[in-house]
Amino acid sequence: MTAIYLEMSRDENHGGGSWAFTNCVWAPTEKQGGGRWPFWSKVLQIKEGDVVIHLRGITPKANFVGYAIATKDGFETSTRPPNPGKWDYCSSFYRADLTGYTPFHNAINLVNLFESRGVELNAYLDTNKKRGTSKRNVFFVRQSGGLQCLNGAYLSDVDDDLLLALLGGGEEITGPESKRAVVSVETGVQIASVRSRVGQARFSSEIKNLYGHSCCFPGCSISDDRFLIGSHIARWSDNEKLRGKMGNGLCLCLIHDKAFETGMFTLDQYYCVFANPKEMKPDSEISMELKANHGKQIRLSAVKPLEDALLDHWIRVGVEP
Ligand SMILES: [Zn+2]
Repeated sequence: MTAIYLEMSRDENHGGGSWAFTNCVWAPTEKQGGGRWPFWSKVLQIKEGDVVIHLRGITPKANFVGYAIATKDGFETSTRPPNPGKWDYCSSFYRADLTGYTPFHNAINLVNLFESRGVELNAYLDTNKKRGTSKRNVFFVRQSGGLQCLNGAYLSDVDDDLLLALLGGGEEITGPESKRAVVSVETGVQIASVRSRVGQARFSSEIKNLYGHSCCFPGCSISDDRFLIGSHIARWSDNEKLRGKMGNGLCLCLIHDKAFETGMFTLDQYYCVFANPKEMKPDSEISMELKANHGKQIRLSAVKPLEDALLDHWIRVGVEP
């Protein structure tokens, strides 16, 4: 299951080179003088496909600025960042590599958020306190009545409840509490993209499992995970009802995914390849291959593609096989 983490970083450079902001998250393995710190060792919990939201800068100018995706699991290394700064004393570091940094359309100011979502965030702290040993490592604390960042909470947990408390559903569009409304709408819209990214990553990996990590196109032997996509038949954004359903997925290699996505072929009701005559080009090798496999059934998994999903694809690409 895809997890979400929050990186809270004050310095702009944070390590430099390939260690700098958006390339990875990293932390020293030990405090100066010894001892572990849970907000550092958490880097090791990051798994490939997890989402890291970035909170940058110093209060009152600390902002949620965007998010990125982990490309592999967190690890410990004796390789050093070019500019370890005040962590220079340490001989090893935790690191998790990131890709696909996506800035939020508008940065979300933390102080505004603490004010506008105070009720929800306080309630979250109360609930978290009762969790006992399964308590999350949260980036903020209650201090003299107000909320503020926990010093040193470099990498913290963001579960679904916290995400909701932080960013809401974006439903409060009008009303006299205009500040609250503005924050909520902005953040609601922006976080929808994070949620969608998390959901899609999870879906993609489940579909690959379902199809045994190989392309289901007839005769295609691609089984290298780096060249496979667990893709949607009906688009994630187009069809809420089919979202996340296993019958709405196909495991295809990059070529066949592209051919399916662009409507060069679809599947008929018997799950056979239907080469779309409108998209066939005489000088295209892909077209030739699709035509050669016209009428052949894909390699089915335990869950067959849903008719509704196929119908959606036919409509989108404009064919009726
Ligand atoms: Zn393929």
